[in-house]
Amino acid sequence: MKIPIDLKKGDVTENVPKEVIVGIDLGTTNSLIAYIENDVPVTVKSIEGKNKLTPSILHFTESGDIIVGNKAKDFMISHPERTIFSVKRLMGKSYADVSQLNTSIGYEIIDEENATLVKIKIGNKFYTPVELSSEILKSLKKDAEKHLNTIISKAVITVPAYFNDAQRQATRDAGKLAGLDVLRIVNEPTAASLAYGIGLDRTLQSNVAVYDLGGGTFDISILHIEDGIFEVLSTHGDTFLGGDDFDRAIINYWAEKLNISVDRLKKETNLNQELRLKAEEAKKVLSSKSEFTSEISGKTVSLTKDKFEDLISPFVEKTLKSCAQALHDSGLKGSEIDKIILVGGSTRIPLIKQKLETFFGLVPDDSLDPDEVVALGAAIQADILAGNRKDILLLDVTPLSLGIETVGGLMDTIIPRNSKVPQRAGRQYTTSVDGQKNLRITVFQGERDLVEHNRKLGEFILKDIPPMAAGFPKIEVHFILDADGILTVKAKELRSEKETSVEIKSTYGISEEEMALMLIESIKNAEVDMKKRALLEAVNEANNVILAAEKFLTQNQEILSKTEYDQVVLLNNALKSSVQSGNKDEIEMAMKVLNDYSSPLAHRALDVNIQKALKGVKM
Ligand code: AMP
Repeated sequence: MKIPIDLKKGDVTENVPKEVIVGIDLGTTNSLIAYIENDVPVTVKSIEGKNKLTPSILHFTESGDIIVGNKAKDFMISHPERTIFSVKRLMGKSYADVSQLNTSIGYEIIDEENATLVKIKIGNKFYTPVELSSEILKSLKKDAEKHLNTIISKAVITVPAYFNDAQRQATRDAGKLAGLDVLRIVNEPTAASLAYGIGLDRTLQSNVAVYDLGGGTFDISILHIEDGIFEVLSTHGDTFLGGDDFDRAIINYWAEKLNISVDRLKKETNLNQELRLKAEEAKKVLSSKSEFTSEISGKTVSLTKDKFEDLISPFVEKTLKSCAQALHDSGLKGSEIDKIILVGGSTRIPLIKQKLETFFGLVPDDSLDPDEVVALGAAIQADILAGNRKDILLLDVTPLSLGIETVGGLMDTIIPRNSKVPQRAGRQYTTSVDGQKNLRITVFQGERDLVEHNRKLGEFILKDIPPMAAGFPKIEVHFILDADGILTVKAKELRSEKETSVEIKSTYGISEEEMALMLIESIKNAEVDMKKRALLEAVNEANNVILAAEKFLTQNQEILSKTEYDQVVLLNNALKSSVQSGNKDEIEMAMKVLNDYSSPLAHRALDVNIQKALKGVKM
């Protein structure tokens, strides 16, 4: 299905000029945008012009402006609390998932000790990783628009093969918020393979190992490609291993030589920064030379290629262990791998190429720039989706997202638009009221954040859930979409095995024009919708916190001093009135203040209750 849409006017038009669909590599350290020019993929230089890579870094000025890329990088040392990096690590994650990160970054991730998605506090405002990523995407989009002198409205965005559903959905939302119709989320190793032309000839099949070593992350994926389908057989890696570790190893080596103590390094940020820049320079020089000599604060420092290889060898060995694991999980033998593809700046290091050659018995292909290969492949995927490569058949996809209504009238997408058909996907939900017996499942189709703007396809009720406390039942909702577009929705309470299902014809009664209009509306309203969603989510979360605080007060009155009790009541009342205000940041702030105050009390109550239980006192 191809619908020409004029996104500026919002019209569905015929005969619009051939539009550019971009491919975007939204990376942890750097991001890059590419497009097809005369049938060849090319990357776009950032407006700053220095480099094709845009550092995935954002700086928020006191006056509320947002600076992205190289210019933001300069603020990492001077204003760490207002300079955000590594947002990709936070996408689709809850605080519990990322708590160990808080020690290694200068900005504040909100600790709510629960399973809700993380937020980042900058000044008095709270941002989601989706909003932050969308700022990076907006900047890339602007660069490409300036370069091509045209409006860009469609994109393919890449994600690591190991990204889960929530992380992929978050990436999709970030694209939408940046004003992009995200035609497809593509695995990075798939994009890299496409850039090398693998999979473009449907008569050939191959097994490919994609080794991706960047600044801060490492992963290896083994793909089987046959008949235009890229199947990820296995993936392994370390989300905290990369070129930064090599830089640190050099810094430590030099610090020892120059008699600089760890304490001094920590205190003197300028010296640390100087060493870091020199270490990275040395590392890059040693990719093509056998020795590096320079000066730091008037003293000579040097490093030979042999010593450098010694220093990084433990890290390289670790990546090879991952390769062995991935190969084992893929069920293939090393001799069955047809090609090794290199991704990420750190794969320029000769030692890594040598080690891979020994491990796989195959010379890695490094003919493309490892920094660009993912974006180039994404541009090729975009070109295929645009229908410009007639020889490649596209698999059938769902034209609109399918999902269910959750608390507050929010749409929770279960099968995103443009997913391959047939498709199965599921998610777990729970109840919001103690002793809840029935759960209504209402199925919607569409791209908007609130179900009221989407199309209702049907509903059913999961009955006779045994009485349990709110949040205790585990209700699994499963969507099964067959090749004819028939959707079967099943709901099952896992603790009691109660199950109900319904069959829905998902695309029945909706024309292509209507579909196109729904899509245009979703992009036009992305910002407003996302704000409403954020407010509703904050209200839902605040209501849960208010109930939990009230429960806590009744159950633990004797453990609390009068001042503590009164203070919790006061802060809880403040939270209640903030909910009335309808201001998201005010609610988040009231929630943070209450959480900060009550967390130590809750820990104390837990200790006391455990002591009581150990002594056999009935609680
Ligand atoms: P990426 O995250 O893919 O952009 O990778 C960036 C990492 O690659 C950084 O740690 C860089 O220092 C490293 N890098 C870039 N060029 C080279 C090179 N010529 N030799 C070694 N490492 C490099």
